[in-house]
Amino acid sequence: MKKELKKIIIAIDGHSSCGKSTVAKDIAQRFDLRYVDTGAMYRAVTLFALRKGLIKGQTVDADTLQSKMEEVEVLFKKNPVTGIVETFLNGANVEKEIRTLEISSRVSVVSTFGFVRRRLVQLQQAMGREGGLVMDGRDIGTVVFPNADLKIFMTAAPEIRAKRRYDEMIEKGEQVDFNSVLENVKQRDFIDSTRAESPLIQAPDAWLLDNGHLDRSQQLFLVVEKLKELGWL
Ligand code: C5P
Repeated sequence: MKKELKKIIIAIDGHSSCGKSTVAKDIAQRFDLRYVDTGAMYRAVTLFALRKGLIKGQTVDADTLQSKMEEVEVLFKKNPVTGIVETFLNGANVEKEIRTLEISSRVSVVSTFGFVRRRLVQLQQAMGREGGLVMDGRDIGTVVFPNADLKIFMTAAPEIRAKRRYDEMIEKGEQVDFNSVLENVKQRDFIDSTRAESPLIQAPDAWLLDNGHLDRSQQLFLVVEKLKELGWL
């Protein structure tokens, strides 16, 4: 008997800018599941801290941020026109602001704080209570949903990932240079993998997907094959 796909929990973790969200959105769309971008939640908290003047360079006023965490409300809403899921911080659409290099270069530091992680993990677990979702991030298969039905760990060479992110930003009209994007990708990998709280690691039962030389349809094909192999399709 087939397992009930509408209740599945798929956890996707991996390095920065390796296309986790692309594959996650493709799976969600194909199988009518919800998609949750947890990176957007950490980015929204970073934007909040920045707007409150709590970040100077790479230094964060952690005590004040902690005291204000209860004021932070992050949620996702589907844009009725484009159908794209967008991030809202305290009622305002921040989808564009959270994707800038200014946020990318600070988010990994904000994500090291246990009090930030605990709050967001709580929200993420609540979102997944009913199942039926694809969630991407760094600690989904290890911390948020250690019993996820399918865990995917994605990676690709840093240069390939930086080139993809660079092309995306240029297309959106952002003024960036390739080396800054590459540096940011490497720096985030380093901070994410070496932090004390929930470091980015491949869960022992995660399936490794290196998509460095795969296009969008090829990677989706492999995931579909994996779901078949596991008896979900
Ligand atoms: O996925 P994205 O690149 O947007 O994530 C931004 C940053 O948020 C990551 O570099 C990481 O520092 C942090 N993050 C995290 N745990 C998650 C998702 C993102 O620490 N589950």
